[in-house]
Amino acid sequence: MKIRSPFDGPWATPEPPLDIKTGEWRFQRPVTKVGKCRQCGWCYVYCPLGCVEVKETHFSANLDYCKGCGLCAKICPANAIRLSREGEE
Ligand code: SF4
Ligand code: SF4
Repeated sequence: MKIRSPFDGPWATPEPPLDIKTGEWRFQRPVTKVGKCRQCGWCYVYCPLGCVEVKETHFSANLDYCKGCGLCAKICPANAIRLSREGEE
């Protein structure tokens, strides 16, 4: 099975097109406060889409795919993720 999406999620099907930018469905986005991230990886594990990426100094969502469910912000033990409405800073 060929998966073109970098994130294998429930939207992935065996036939193309697979690369659906689910981030367009979002009305709020998770913003990582880089200095507060302890790199525990909970957001990575709990994100239902598996779209949290590991950066050099922190973890953050790939906004091409993040649907803005807010789960990562809810479970982050360091309170390092805030939700921002789309179109606002
Ligand atoms: S859950 Fe919070 S502290 Fe842990 S890696 Fe994710 S953003 Fe960083
Ligand atoms: S808001 Fe939801 S979909 Fe987006 S990174 Fe966090 S847990 Fe994943």
